[in-house]
Amino acid sequence: MNIVLQNLTKKFPGHGRKAAEEVVAVNDFTFEIPDGKLVGLLGPSGCGKSTTLNLICGLIRPSSGQIFFGSQDVTSLPPEHRGVGMVFQNYALYPHLTVLQNILFPLQNLKGKNRPSKAEMQKRALDAAKLVQIEELMERKPGELSGGQQQRVAIARALVKMPHVLLLDEPLSNLDARLRLQTREEIRKIQKATGITTIFVTHDQDEAMSISDQIVVMKAGVIQQIGKPQEVYDNPANLFVARFLGTPPINLFAGTVRDSKLYLGTNCVLDAPGIPDQEVWAGVRPEGFLLQPDGPLICQLTGIEVMGRDISVVSTHPACQAAAIRSIIGSDTRVDTSQPTVRFALKPGKVFLFRKDTEERLACQLR
Ligand code: ADP
Ligand code: MG
Repeated sequence: MNIVLQNLTKKFPGHGRKAAEEVVAVNDFTFEIPDGKLVGLLGPSGCGKSTTLNLICGLIRPSSGQIFFGSQDVTSLPPEHRGVGMVFQNYALYPHLTVLQNILFPLQNLKGKNRPSKAEMQKRALDAAKLVQIEELMERKPGELSGGQQQRVAIARALVKMPHVLLLDEPLSNLDARLRLQTREEIRKIQKATGITTIFVTHDQDEAMSISDQIVVMKAGVIQQIGKPQEVYDNPANLFVARFLGTPPINLFAGTVRDSKLYLGTNCVLDAPGIPDQEVWAGVRPEGFLLQPDGPLICQLTGIEVMGRDISVVSTHPACQAAAIRSIIGSDTRVDTSQPTVRFALKPGKVFLFRKDTEERLACQLR
């Protein structure tokens, strides 16, 4: 089932009396989550991700705007009638109940004709447990499980009602690095196997990029960009999106366009045809640097970091806005570390220009 958000807005009153203290947690969201897809909501802490999920599942009501599940307007429907499964950031299992009892809990709360028979409940609980591979742990209490296992119980508990929509609010934040990786792959597998329309909230760009069909990048309650992860990475709409996506992060330079040429400091690095003379922010992806003995970008070499498959050349440049430039090159490339300088050519497709005032991307064909 697809989900449509139409001009969805949520304002929270400030604690003081002044209207200025009001927080617009979700500001005029309009977008569609296609049926059966996994959409990643991505943005820094406080940008309105949890509020968006709480609006979709019905725990809070919007200040204005509408929410549709398929053709049905669910905006004023209570949460229990929306057919939504939700896994919260702190997935609070009931400590005194076993895994099985925890998973059964949402079913036992159903009333009237919606309440399945006892045998049906048992079967659905076991099916959900099998999906997340915890069927061996059914008699344990949450305290006897690892973080990853507890997380799976929380997911099974969300799946047992066979929801049309699955909402996951930073579901991996309590897991260690290795388990996060493993669990996110499992969530993706389960989502594909069940075909449930899913919204996955995270502040971790790597996580969102790796499992989402589409990402929605947010900042301070406002959608910045929506698209397939690779498309957004390759075509950021503004400086915020460019900086938020990518590890290592994009390298930011103060640049100047003069006579259709792009300068970083005094180095003339690329042709920028059609762009009026102006100061710009220039972002260069770490993979956008080519080592070249006579390359136009002249940097002071700090050192190299070997990271298995790749080498990261660390250097500095007067126009760079960070303490160091990190450029990634193949590990088969030799870097002469006895030299004080290192020179690069830039790959035009990996360089983005942004207006200094609005930080919007400048449409241009660099070469
Ligand atoms: P995220 O999940 O992206 O970290 P939230 O959706 O939790 O962000 O919060 C978005 C903004 O709304 C924040 O500024 C937060 O302080 C504010 N906010 C969230 N819930 C409430 C509330 N119940 N009352 C007042 N302000 C709130
Ligand atoms: Mg949150």
